[in-house]
Amino acid sequence: MSDIIKLLPDAVANQIAAGEVIQRPASAVKELLENAIDAGSDNISLVIKDAGKALIQVIDNGFGMSETDARLSFERHATSKIATADDLFNLNTKGFRGEALASIAAIAQVELKTRVEGNDLGTQILIEGSQVKEQELCSTAKGTSFSIKNLFFNVPARRNFLKSNPVEIKHIIEEFQRVAMVHADISFSMYNNGNEVFNLKKGSFRQRIVGIFGDKVNQKLVPVEENTDIVSVVGFVGKPEFAKKTRGEQYFFVNDRFIKNAYLNHAVNNAFDQLLSKDQHPSYFLKLTIDPAKIDINIHPTKTEIKFEDERSIYAIIRTAVKQALGKHNISPTLDFEQESSFNVPLMKSSDTIKAPTIKVNQDYNPFETKTVSPSVNTNNRSFAKQSTEKWESLYSDFEKDTSEIIEHKQEKEEQKVISPDWDNEESSSFVESDKQTLIQLHSKYILAQLKTGSLIIDQERAHTRILFESYIQNFAKGQGITQQLLFPETLDFTTADAELLNELQTEIKQLGFDFEKMGKSSFVVSGVPVELKEQNVKKIIEGLLEQFKLNESELKLKKHENLAISMARSASVKTGKKLSYEEMKALVDELFSCEMPYSLPNGKPTTITLNLEDLNQQFDY
Ligand code: ADP
Ligand code: MG
Repeated sequence: MSDIIKLLPDAVANQIAAGEVIQRPASAVKELLENAIDAGSDNISLVIKDAGKALIQVIDNGFGMSETDARLSFERHATSKIATADDLFNLNTKGFRGEALASIAAIAQVELKTRVEGNDLGTQILIEGSQVKEQELCSTAKGTSFSIKNLFFNVPARRNFLKSNPVEIKHIIEEFQRVAMVHADISFSMYNNGNEVFNLKKGSFRQRIVGIFGDKVNQKLVPVEENTDIVSVVGFVGKPEFAKKTRGEQYFFVNDRFIKNAYLNHAVNNAFDQLLSKDQHPSYFLKLTIDPAKIDINIHPTKTEIKFEDERSIYAIIRTAVKQALGKHNISPTLDFEQESSFNVPLMKSSDTIKAPTIKVNQDYNPFETKTVSPSVNTNNRSFAKQSTEKWESLYSDFEKDTSEIIEHKQEKEEQKVISPDWDNEESSSFVESDKQTLIQLHSKYILAQLKTGSLIIDQERAHTRILFESYIQNFAKGQGITQQLLFPETLDFTTADAELLNELQTEIKQLGFDFEKMGKSSFVVSGVPVELKEQNVKKIIEGLLEQFKLNESELKLKKHENLAISMARSASVKTGKKLSYEEMKALVDELFSCEMPYSLPNGKPTTITLNLEDLNQQFDY
């Protein structure tokens, strides 16, 4: 048999390749806009006719092409952007494959006009189905203009496959927005059938977003910013009250390239956590900057997926960044307390000053320094443990006091109340207000806090567990907890199994703040306890700790530190049923929202729920 393998002519090869690169008019738009950006332009126009089926024109004021380059640009694998394989690991341009123009020229009629600075005349090339029809000198503005006419003119199957004009134009606008949004330093305009669709001036990222989505979006944006060695995250998230039922404005950009990534999307959703209902989606506009060597550069021209070397860390950083942004900008409930309470009964003595709640943002936070905990935990918030224990000391000491003083005080003032809510007639609901914050304890279990936008219900036991958990994680990070020496050391007897376990875990348990020595087979002398425990029932707490630890180990297979921290937090936390004074509630709420992850326990169970005022109004049929 004679040889039958032939090399395909370039025109055919290009047409086949074009099928991958250019699927619809919007793909050509993306390629041309990206080329214009790579050419250093600061003004780019897109002109569309008949949803791109008749004309796609991109005009830029970039550095243009010489006559030779203009001709070469249509060759396959012709690129000025990389020269060696090493360059692939240091990409700073949108394109690098040298395929787009060859592909477009294979399936359309293309007119190129381009001129470099310093030349009087530019070059004009007409190319159709990969055939150069004309090449001549022309007078044209500095920069480049590509006109793509009759896309798929020679591939009828493709042309017939295109969707209706409204669908195709929607895809084009989407591509235009994705490219224009992240390049706010370039002015962009778009015309469709002679009508101006966008006219975006140079400005900030915020101005660009507003330019694209309209003035109303401005008030919805909360800035996000986080710089770490691995990634920097800059941009905005939408305030929760503007969240939509449909996935709308969700934009991730990596090194100025739009990407889709379900995992990172989850990180943002997770940061919004309790702030949104299940069927709501946050909007976000986040620009990530990463060393190009740390991402998979083999980006398919039409695909928006991307692979990261260290996806988990990036997840944690994004989540933290968004959470902190929401906290800093009064979205997080602590910062958003109603200033004017409807019941004006100051329970605190007038000499007491009320500190406005603050969110601590740890600038040093680098989630990569610790390996002991899940990404959800910030172990490096150095100020946390100390402040936390200071406030909690007073909380614990207050527990010992009779709360009757406060209740009495409340009754004295009762008459002055305009409205006297009847909270289940429950004597114990030591509901308290101040002119700064309204905090009411319900059923000795929940704390109701009034916010501008609604109410927040905090589960006291879970909230305290979260606070302690983070402070114990801190202890492990630092290698030690703060110990309160007992006036009278206690000798405690344990079961043999528990004594074994205690012995095995003694280094870590000492890091939690305990101080003890083994005495005999299953007895220990405890001479110090974590400072926040004071003189509570030490034996019960240690037994609770060991019990929880065993349970978690068998069921959850947690890491040792994480397990000990959560077990100890569970064992030592304020329990449901405990009456709390105003100061105790205030300390609890403040500390909770100083946590890295205030809204849930490490196992995901909520610590707080929000009652949205609008939802309430709706339920009352307002
Ligand atoms: P790639 O962008 O992957 O390099 P393209 O086929 O899109 O491949 O473009 C080929 C080459 O043509 C580019 O590398 C660039 O040198 C040149 N080029 C394309 N568009 C422009 C433009 N608008 N201005 C200047 N040069 C351009
Ligand atoms: Mg390109």
